[in-house]
Amino acid sequence: MKLACFLLIMVICNAEQVPQRESVEQPISMTAVYGKHLRLLAVPEADLLIAAIVASVRRFKDADFSSPWLAGPYDILIPISNSSANTGALIKPMDTEVWICIALSVPAVIASLIGLSKCINALNKRIGSIKPIENNSGAGSIQIIDYVVCVILSQAFEKEMVKKTSNRIRNERWLQDARFMHKHLDLHLVDLLEKKKISEVLEFIGNPKHLYDVVLGQLIAQKVPKVDEEWVTFINHLKQAITINAALATNVVKGRAQTFVDQLRNEFLNGYLQSEHLASAFLIDCTGEYEDCDSEDKMEFQEMCLSSLMQILNDTKSPNNQQDFAMELSPQVVKNMKTLNDPAALPRCGASCRMCGSLCIETANHDTNLRPHDAIHQPGGVAGMHLIENLKLDYSTCSQAYECDATFTLGNDQQDHKFRNFDKVFPGWKNPRINEELPVREYILATHNEDLAKKYKLKPCADIPSSFFRDLATVKEQLKRELQN
Ligand SMILES: [Zn+2]
Ligand SMILES: [Zn+2]
Repeated sequence: MKLACFLLIMVICNAEQVPQRESVEQPISMTAVYGKHLRLLAVPEADLLIAAIVASVRRFKDADFSSPWLAGPYDILIPISNSSANTGALIKPMDTEVWICIALSVPAVIASLIGLSKCINALNKRIGSIKPIENNSGAGSIQIIDYVVCVILSQAFEKEMVKKTSNRIRNERWLQDARFMHKHLDLHLVDLLEKKKISEVLEFIGNPKHLYDVVLGQLIAQKVPKVDEEWVTFINHLKQAITINAALATNVVKGRAQTFVDQLRNEFLNGYLQSEHLASAFLIDCTGEYEDCDSEDKMEFQEMCLSSLMQILNDTKSPNNQQDFAMELSPQVVKNMKTLNDPAALPRCGASCRMCGSLCIETANHDTNLRPHDAIHQPGGVAGMHLIENLKLDYSTCSQAYECDATFTLGNDQQDHKFRNFDKVFPGWKNPRINEELPVREYILATHNEDLAKKYKLKPCADIPSSFFRDLATVKEQLKRELQN
């Protein structure tokens, strides 16, 4: 609480009123100038005192006060209860976590603002780069076409690359032959095993569709044509189409802009590129918008069409990283294959065996009434298949269980089912009759028995066949040989 100001003043002794020294020993009767130092004036042992003194009426009686030399605020400290007299009272209402969040959010906000400003700058630059086109094209320009071309150019190129890649892979054995693809999947697992990425391997076995998608994506990416070369070809075809059609449109007396647009659309749809995507971008109605194009000089119109569009084509950069572009393109290739649904070029069905987790070997979208799901069933233990009586992982496959007329239960359902009724318990599935050796899966069960038991909260398999204990390098060599043949 602010009470008063302190005054640093000089007190000069008023000699006439100052008592004699002897009297100082009796302070009460001698002077009204109180205080340890003030008393020295009264004695008088001092002629002058420089100190912080609060001037009062009584003191004015005994001494002359000079003007204050220095003035400042006075504060009074009052003791208060513990609950509120706490220097942490400011931070107390919030937890440490809240303060940490506040501390972290400050740089995050700053970073966001910096990022936002960069985006705005980039956008401004982009807008800036389009402006000269507007100026060049002048009145009656067909800016909307420029804009459309700019926006859809990269999309059309991607579509073109999807188409080319799909054509390139349609005869690949890994696309046609499920067993061959399975060897690629196993080779991928072997690579991870060599790098000691065991948990990743076990995750992939538990989610075989994901493993398939990853490996398929890598195989497709290797087949994506060279982006740089393809981009040049693509742009050259576009330039050619624009040049020819701009020249043709000048011969029309009325509706030049519309003719130009229509011809381009036709060219993109039926010409070399055969791009529906590119053609759809030219579904533009120019009625009432570009009549002034008709009054322009032929050369002027042609120049207008060419200069702006060519500039966009020259300015648009090709995707610069082959690997990144290819990896991003792969899922689109897969999607395209599924959409086209050409039986000759389809990825695999994503279904997997409910018991052992093996992936269906049929193609995507297969009609299960005509061709039910089927799989090369793996040793069930790798996917958590276990014996109900002792919770130990099982080394046998669904096919072996079928052969020996074994039974199984599903999850919490205590009802016993026969493997012989596999196709009835799992509608849409074939009975498990394919019995083929899967060396990598056997190796995984034998070598990572404990890891698998831990993952599925079960007990390790107790009686793994000795043939499962393989040498990984030998397994890998064999896989590679089979893939090369
Ligand atoms: Zn199975
Ligand atoms: Zn299937």
